[in-house]
Amino acid sequence: MLSEPNFDWDVVVIGAGPGGYVAAIRCAQLGLKTLCIDDRLSADGKPALGGTCLNVGCIPSKALLQSSENYEAASMHFAAHGVLVKSLELDLPVMMQRKQKIVSNFTQGIVGLFKANGVTGFCGRGQLLPENKVLFTDREGKQQTLVSKHVILAPGSSSVAIAAAPLQGEMIVDSTGALSFSSVPKRLGVIGAGVIGLELGSVWRRLGAEVVLLEAQENFLPTMDEQVAKESLKLYKQQGLHIRLGARVMGCEVKDNLVTTHYQDKEGEHQEVFDALIVSVGRRPNTKGLAADNARLLLDEWGLVHVNEQCKTNVPGVFAIGDAVRGPMLAHKASEEGMMVAEIIAGKHGHVNYATVPSVIYTHPEIASVGKTEQALRSEGVQYRVGFFPFAANGRAQAYGEPSGFIKVLAEKNTDRILGVHMIGAHCSDLIMQGVMAMEMGMSSEDVALMMFAHPTLSEALHEAALDVQGRAIHMAKPARI
Ligand code: FAD
Ligand code: AMP
Repeated sequence: MLSEPNFDWDVVVIGAGPGGYVAAIRCAQLGLKTLCIDDRLSADGKPALGGTCLNVGCIPSKALLQSSENYEAASMHFAAHGVLVKSLELDLPVMMQRKQKIVSNFTQGIVGLFKANGVTGFCGRGQLLPENKVLFTDREGKQQTLVSKHVILAPGSSSVAIAAAPLQGEMIVDSTGALSFSSVPKRLGVIGAGVIGLELGSVWRRLGAEVVLLEAQENFLPTMDEQVAKESLKLYKQQGLHIRLGARVMGCEVKDNLVTTHYQDKEGEHQEVFDALIVSVGRRPNTKGLAADNARLLLDEWGLVHVNEQCKTNVPGVFAIGDAVRGPMLAHKASEEGMMVAEIIAGKHGHVNYATVPSVIYTHPEIASVGKTEQALRSEGVQYRVGFFPFAANGRAQAYGEPSGFIKVLAEKNTDRILGVHMIGAHCSDLIMQGVMAMEMGMSSEDVALMMFAHPTLSEALHEAALDVQGRAIHMAKPARI
C-alpha cells in the first residue's frame, strides 16, 4: 500500500479505523486530496485497514457470537422445533477461519474503496508536527514530513492493561486474544462485566466453557436503563454465566497451565482457578506520541484529545474523532464524527446528534438503547411517562422461540416527545434503529402509536410500548387509562 509520497495534501488522516477511513473516503468524495496513514498489520504482516472494529473488534466478535449462537441453538433449542440433532460436533478451527475470512474480506474491501474514491493509503505511523505537518515513518523506519491544510487524528484506542493480571500467552489475554483461543477453555475467568466481557464471555460459554465474570462495581451495567440491566442479569444467570459483582481482582499467578485469580469483595478475599482469563476492563485512547510536544495538542487527564462539539482540537486545522475523543467508544459514533469533520473541512454543514447515539450489547438476548434512561430522567427532575411491552405477548417473538425481554418507551410528560427507548430481546440491535429514527425526527409517542406496523413482527412490540405510554396497549391485560 506504500505509494509515492506527495507534499501537497488537503487532508492527512492518521488512523484507518471506522473513524479515519470513513473520514478519508468522505473527504475524497468532496474533492479533497486525501492521504490516510495506518500502522496496523494483519497476523501475516500485511497492512490491515479498518482499525480495531474490523480487525479485532466489532466484526470478528459478531462473527463468533453468531457461530456460537448457532452451536448452542443446535445443541439446546432445535429440539423444541421438532428438529433433532443426533450428533453435534464443534469444529473450532473452521469457526475461526470463517471469522478471519469475514475480517480479511472487509479489510480488503477498504483498499478497494480507497482506490475507487481516490484516497491514498500509507502504511506506517503518523505523528502531528507544528503547522499541520505530519511526520510519516514507514515500516522500514524511513521518515518523511508531509504538509497538509488539514489533519484528522483518528488513532482509536487499546485495551487497558492492569498490573493485577499481566497478559501471558493464551492464559491471560485481552479481547484480541479472546477472539482467537485455539481450544475452548474448561473454566474461563473474565475480569470486567462490561460490554466486551459479556459478549466474549457469552461466546465461550456457548461453546462449552464454564464462565465466571468478576466485576469490581456493585451495580451491573450502570449506564443501561436499570430495569433492562436487572432483567439482563437475571437472564445471563439463567444461561449459566456466573457474574460476581463487587469483586475486585487483586492479583493472578500462572502455574501448571492454570491461572489462580485473587479477588476481594465485601465478604473478604477469595481465589478462583481458571484455565484462561480474559482482561476486559476498558479501553484507553492511543494518544501517546500521537503529537510532537511542540505541536501543542491539548489532551485531557484521560489522554483523550480535547475537542469541541465539531471535533475541532485546540490546534487550528486539526480535528480528532472516534475513540480518541470524549463520548462513547463506538464504531458508529467514530464514523459519524468522521463524516461530520469531512463536511466541515469541505466548507459544508456537518453535525452529529450526540443525543441519539444507539448503544447495543450483542449477547443473547440483545440489549439496545438510545436516549435517556429512567434513572437519568429522574436525576434531572424531568417528568416523563413510561410505555412498556413484553416480547412474551408478541406473536413473532413466540414464533421465533424468543419470548424474553421487553421494549420501553420514555416520553416527556407534557409534550409526549420521546426521550429514550430501551429494549432487551431478540434482534434488538436492529429494532433500536426505529427508536433512533423517532428521536432524530423529534417524534412523540403518539406519532409512533399512530403508525401502522407490519404483522407479525417484533417491531409491533415498539408500537405497543408507544401505545402503552398513553395507557392503551391492546395486547396487554391492564385497564386502559384513556
Ligand atoms: P480504531 O478502530 O481503533 O482505529 C484506529 C487505527 O489507527 C488503528 O488501526 C491503529 O492501529 C491506527 N493508529 C493509531 N495510532 C496511529 C498512528 N500514530 N499512526 C498510524 N496509525 C495509527 N463498537 C461498536 O460500535 N459496536 C460493536 O459491536 C463493537 N464491538 C467491539 C468488540 C471488541 C472486542 C472491541 C475491542 C471493540 C468493539 N467496539 C464496538 C468498539 C469499536 O471497535 C471502536 O469504537 C472503533 O473501532 C473506534 O474507531 P476509531 O476509528 O476511533 O479507532
Ligand atoms: P467496559 O469499560 O464497559 O469494558 O467495562 C470494564 C469493566 O471492568 C468496568 O465495569 C470496571 O468496573 C471493571 N473493572 C476494572 N478493573 C477491575 C478489576 N481489577 N477487577 C474487576 N473488575 C474490574
